[in-house]
Amino acid sequence: MATKHAIVVGGSMGGLVAARALTDYYDRVTIVDRDTFPAIGEHRKGVPQSRHTHGLLASGRRMLERFFPGIGAELMAAGAIPGDVLADTRWIFEGGTHCRPKSGFDGLLLSRPLLEGMVRKYLFALPNVAVLENCDAAGLVFADGKVSGLRLASGDVVAADFVVGCAGRSGHVANWLTELGYPAAEVERVEMALGYTTRLFRRHATDLNGDLAIILPSTPEGKRGGVMLAQEGDRWTVTLMSYFGVNAPSDLPGFLEYAKSLPAPDIYEAIRNAEPVSDPQVTKFPASVRHRYEKLKLFPEGFLVFGDAICSFNPIYGQGMSVAALEAGVLSECLAAGTTNLARRFFTAAAKVIDTPWSIAVGNDLRMPETTGPRNAGVSFINWYMGKLHKAAHHDPVPALAFHAVANLLAPPQSVMHPRVVWRVLLGNLWHDFLSK
Ligand SMILES: Cc1cc2nc3c(=O)[nH]c(=O)nc-3n(C[C@H](O)[C@H](O)[C@H](O)COP(=O)(O)OP(=O)(O)OC[C@H]3O[C@@H](n4cnc5c(N)ncnc54)[C@H](O)[C@@H]3O)c2cc1C
Repeated sequence: MATKHAIVVGGSMGGLVAARALTDYYDRVTIVDRDTFPAIGEHRKGVPQSRHTHGLLASGRRMLERFFPGIGAELMAAGAIPGDVLADTRWIFEGGTHCRPKSGFDGLLLSRPLLEGMVRKYLFALPNVAVLENCDAAGLVFADGKVSGLRLASGDVVAADFVVGCAGRSGHVANWLTELGYPAAEVERVEMALGYTTRLFRRHATDLNGDLAIILPSTPEGKRGGVMLAQEGDRWTVTLMSYFGVNAPSDLPGFLEYAKSLPAPDIYEAIRNAEPVSDPQVTKFPASVRHRYEKLKLFPEGFLVFGDAICSFNPIYGQGMSVAALEAGVLSECLAAGTTNLARRFFTAAAKVIDTPWSIAVGNDLRMPETTGPRNAGVSFINWYMGKLHKAAHHDPVPALAFHAVANLLAPPQSVMHPRVVWRVLLGNLWHDFLSK
């Protein structure tokens, strides 16, 4: 009997989880990446974002554990820090900190190279996985009405029954489709010209009275925000971000001065006397981009697009890796029902996964008047309501928990509008207005 071979282009988080889903349905799964994979915990060229702060949402952590049983425990043994997403974190919104009941949403704080390296270790240990490193993919091979393999930049061809494009937000994968004569997917782009500056500091267990993270989102007024997360190796990773402006300075005095200008003093107070332990990293992220593959009427058999190549989000919401893991769950379900009409079924289901994080990221970014993107009365109302919800969440666990369930992609966005939550939001705001008189 002929063996079935799948190729995954790109061995970053998207490619790794897609490959894991494929291993249950294909005899061989080959990961092709133009990088060489380093040891666990080391950075590599193809994932430059790994030097910046990374968060893994509770939904992503759960899905990784489902695909790679035991990985959470091994990450913790390697230094990753478990914590409750709400109880262990200072979420500072609308001039106050969310109240902090135990949410049961388990987060894991760690660096991107530790997480990605460990996922690679688990995946590459599977008997039907092969790896082609230092291989630049250049396009698809098309024969007998379907994609039949991958063309490498070297000119070589690797035959396959199925190819999944996880080469990131660069646009390579979208071009491969049009090179075959297929129509391009409609693209939505929401520009926010984000600047990211990251530094690592030494962490002591007594810092922040034992809290593990501070999240201080940018406001439309100041456009400056920051995140500070504990990570393995007794480190804090601190990212200061700006919308539509210049990056936070990378030199230490400038970095501290910028931290001082954020909407709350918590990050500045925590790092002003801390020992820096890394060189600064600076990057720009121009826009969230979503390719609407689910709307295409024509798509070649034997091929899928996956991960950031479908949708890459403003990174401050920490969604991309978790969305990729959830997409892998969807891919697995689609493959369980066979390969007939696979692209249409997968893109439709993946779009449902993407809708929530996309609406969170884009909706919130549209609070900034400079953000370009479709703005309608619905978005303005939601943003007005979310401001009220955050105020109520300073004191009331009901709206706080409702918000964090959605932000962790564990509940649909409309759950923050459940009458039980709306009632508490109204009550909380009446109380807030009364106290401020
Ligand atoms: C600054 C920043 C911060 C972020 N922070 C977070 C966070 O906190 N939490 C979170 O969940 N997500 C975060 N993300 C998003 C996250 O990195 C991605 O969503 C995640 O890596 C999934 O992307 P991917 O695997 O689809 O693509 P990528 O991660 O972009 O990987 C693409 C891979 O394809 C390979 N490749 C590219 N072209 C070719 C080719 N022609 N041939 C062969 N190989 C190729 C590359 O070497 C690379 O390995 C952040 C992103 C950025 C930019």
